[in-house]
Amino acid sequence: SPDPTRRVDVVVIGAGQAGLSAAYHLKRLGASFVVLDANPAPGGAWQHRWRSLTMSDVHGIAMLPGLDVPERVNDEPARTFVPAYYAAYEARFDLPVVRPVRVLRVEDAEASAGSRSSAGAPASTSETAGRDLLVRTDVGTWRAPAVINATGTWERPFWPSYPGGSSFRGRQLHTVDYEGPEAMAGLDVVVVGGGASAVQILGEVAPVTASTTWVTRREPVWRVGEFNPDAGRDAAALVEDRVRRGLPPQSVVSVTGLMLRPQEQRAAAMGAYDRHPMFTRIEPDGVRMADWSFRHADVIVWATGFRAALGHLAPLHLREDTGGVRLVAREDAHTPTTAARDHRVQLVGYGPSASTIGANRAGRVAARSAMRVVASRAAAA
Ligand code: FAD
Repeated sequence: SPDPTRRVDVVVIGAGQAGLSAAYHLKRLGASFVVLDANPAPGGAWQHRWRSLTMSDVHGIAMLPGLDVPERVNDEPARTFVPAYYAAYEARFDLPVVRPVRVLRVEDAEASAGSRSSAGAPASTSETAGRDLLVRTDVGTWRAPAVINATGTWERPFWPSYPGGSSFRGRQLHTVDYEGPEAMAGLDVVVVGGGASAVQILGEVAPVTASTTWVTRREPVWRVGEFNPDAGRDAAALVEDRVRRGLPPQSVVSVTGLMLRPQEQRAAAMGAYDRHPMFTRIEPDGVRMADWSFRHADVIVWATGFRAALGHLAPLHLREDTGGVRLVAREDAHTPTTAARDHRVQLVGYGPSASTIGANRAGRVAARSAMRVVASRAAAA
């Protein structure tokens, strides 16, 4: 029977800011490639942001290479504004995005043919360099010498586990489930987490709830004065150092500090930002605080962040014992995108490049690094 596998130079997984940037550069480099995206429509994770998150609530998105971001309308929801920009971008550069396609597994072609155990230790990078990768999806398989992974974090919300969680009689939700304050009117709400999402959600819900309680593991870090680009760069450098060492990355945005905007002043005046240490356990009707006092709760909102959505890369054994994927810089000493354990794989939107600015630069470096793998394959053939 004919081989249903489609062959390309590079498979890009994910069509958010990082994947689109990589796609633009692959096109300029003359690659044959495809972008596989699990979402039904353009926009990456932005299409799922909560309804009440407007363009005046977010820091703003960086311009993708070659097309200006349209002038923003401050009260337009981010979940329509950004997807419209990405849709225009895909059309303008005629990018080969195929959706909805979910990548289930990326495998070494030989391992999958059974010549070595896919469960064993990773092959050395020199051993794997000459072999293709198989990208298995819910609609078939693509085969390529190189893969650029740009799958973001939205699909892997992080829920910490606390004793008593399953006994709670109220509702527990994560940032990904939040749809605006209306459903919390008149209720007692506990918000967990020390990042920008927690601050924004408190700002919206405090004016309509019966009470809010804000708990975080560490003292929140407030930004003093204007956003300082040097501090932003320092934060990114810190995260970059972590991925060079194979440690799990931290959020770049989380290290730049929190601030209250005009739309949060009402909640601030109500005391919503009086932070408490993390509760010690969850009880059926509320939470037991660190000082043993009890807070009644109808809702617990877990604004506790995300992890990189990399489960489909598990067959390649990219993770270090330290918990992260170690990245090395091959094309540009400043931007590590290549997986140290398998140079056929580039990660973009991971660690230091997990912001729209970082994703742009990483996309360019990853496209060039992937094409270097393709060229060395062609030279060896
Ligand atoms: P995403 O936009 O998440 O795109 C990943 C794509 O990969 C998705 O379309 C997904 O469907 C697809 N995918 C995932 N797994 C698979 C799979 N197995 N198979 C196929 N496809 C898959 N950054 C800023 O720079 N400015 C901001 O103002 C800002 N505001 C933010 C606000 C919130 C609430 C959050 C949560 C984040 C914010 N960020 C902001 C961070 C920002 O989201 C990222 O920097 C950037 O948009 C992520 O782009 P990405 O391409 O890495 O991922």
